[in-house]
Amino acid sequence: MAFTSDQIWSLLGWTPSADQARQFTVLQLQLAHWNRRLNLTRLVQADDYWIAQIYDALWPLLPQPQGRQGPRRIVDVGTGGGFPGLALAISLPQARLELVDSAARKCEAVRAMAHSLGLSSRVQVHCERAELFARRVGMRGQVDLAVARAVAPAPVVAEYLVPLLTPGGEALLYRGRWDQADEDGLGRAAALLGATLVRRQQRQLPAERGLRTVLGLSPTAPCPGRYPRKVGQPARRPLA
Ligand code: SAM
Repeated sequence: MAFTSDQIWSLLGWTPSADQARQFTVLQLQLAHWNRRLNLTRLVQADDYWIAQIYDALWPLLPQPQGRQGPRRIVDVGTGGGFPGLALAISLPQARLELVDSAARKCEAVRAMAHSLGLSSRVQVHCERAELFARRVGMRGQVDLAVARAVAPAPVVAEYLVPLLTPGGEALLYRGRWDQADEDGLGRAAALLGATLVRRQQRQLPAERGLRTVLGLSPTAPCPGRYPRKVGQPARRPLA
């Protein structure tokens, strides 16, 4: 038996408004629609959608602690078919989101999905390389929360995300299995970027969908101006 959306909210300990619940259903329909044309993701139906997309996107951020103001400016780098970015946009209605991907057709689909969800006023889609986006005036050093899921090895993703952060901001890396060697590598990359590991959380996804790990990095100093390096360099020569 597949999980229902209500069971997913209960597992997350969060209750969406009626409008948010409707938006998650619209997002599933939109994803199925665009997937027929573009092959965006295989995670569209039943548990694939509600657990591997929605629950997986939201568990590191929900529920928001009572009274604490959530992140205002969020960037999702390598958003692909819109995850985790669109799920965050629905569940954090006070936030503005920038969704970044270098694949033009994916960006077109995600832009259309954001429009269908009524989110165009606070969700912008940028068809751009992460290395260039992080150098934009108005983005570098301006972001409260920068996230990435399934984009590149952790030290590469750290180089895309950390330069975007405000001094109190956080880069959240969505990973699967994680070991001490991974953590040592990410720690070395973070130190070069002027950041440090501030959280490591693990959770088994429901329905035996596997172990997930999120790693949080926060700045300890201004990120040196040489990062991120030129397009392609972070992936070709990772910092660790
Ligand atoms: N984050 C989505 C998810 O979890 O479903 C998509 C993951 S998909 C495997 C990786 C995406 O990252 C692709 O859409 C790819 O175009 C994008 N990507 C990889 N490197 C990138 C870069 N340097 N700049 C912008 N986009 C990048």
